[in-house]
Amino acid sequence: MADLSRLCIHTITTRPWSIELAVPYFADAGVRGISVWRDALEGRNADTMRHLIERAGLSVTSLARGGFFTAASAADRLHAIEENRRALEECEAVGAPLLVLVCGATPGQTVADNVDQIQEGIEAILEPAESAGIRLGIEPLHPMYADTRSAIATVKMANDLCDRIDSSMVGVTIDVFHCWWDPDLQAEITRAGAAGRLFSYHVCDWKTDMSDMLNDRGLMGEGIIDIRRITSWMDDAGFDGAIEVEIFSTRWWAEDQVSFLNEIIDSYTRCV
Ligand code: ZN
Repeated sequence: MADLSRLCIHTITTRPWSIELAVPYFADAGVRGISVWRDALEGRNADTMRHLIERAGLSVTSLARGGFFTAASAADRLHAIEENRRALEECEAVGAPLLVLVCGATPGQTVADNVDQIQEGIEAILEPAESAGIRLGIEPLHPMYADTRSAIATVKMANDLCDRIDSSMVGVTIDVFHCWWDPDLQAEITRAGAAGRLFSYHVCDWKTDMSDMLNDRGLMGEGIIDIRRITSWMDDAGFDGAIEVEIFSTRWWAEDQVSFLNEIIDSYTRCV
């Protein structure tokens, strides 16, 4: 029997399923964790969803996602901070101990200005995060998204920002899709681990024939990432949390999701 004790799946991975369908399917398959995307909670009572998840024997690893702190106008940046406060309230309601941050980037601003605005945004939600006991995970994104999605493009940039903010509630989320290419990856994972900042870990794969920058991620084993090696670096750095399968794929979403779930478990067992 495969060891699935650390396996967590994001609701977006099986996007055609509502959260009400995903939870029992995940639980029946032996999955232990679920990361909840905010769109999966839309029109629902988050507290009711928390009970649904708990009754199925799953635990919530994180809420995805907050962030997008940058904007040209102060009013828009304030609006983003309000939205992140609402995301923290959803974390509390659904029982998520971590809010994952896709930090944002605004075309036309310098990288330094984007990073300053991201720091201001995170600092503005530190107090509610601390009082609710919810950690904030800065997820560096692949530099192909540095124009509009995240000025934080490497684990080093995430670690440097953590140093600037200097709070035990702020750490790093490592996603193999975004970071596999980085020659400093092992060193920066080690650095984050030594500082107690390795908060979460996402897996999927990078296909060399990717047809879409966003929605053609591979299932583990379909691409070129040496996931086992990166997992061993995470382990060596002291990370013992969930291993989260996060796949955006129009190709997989078009398949029968029960078969896809079986494929996820098989590839997790073989490749992670
Ligand atoms: Zn991710």
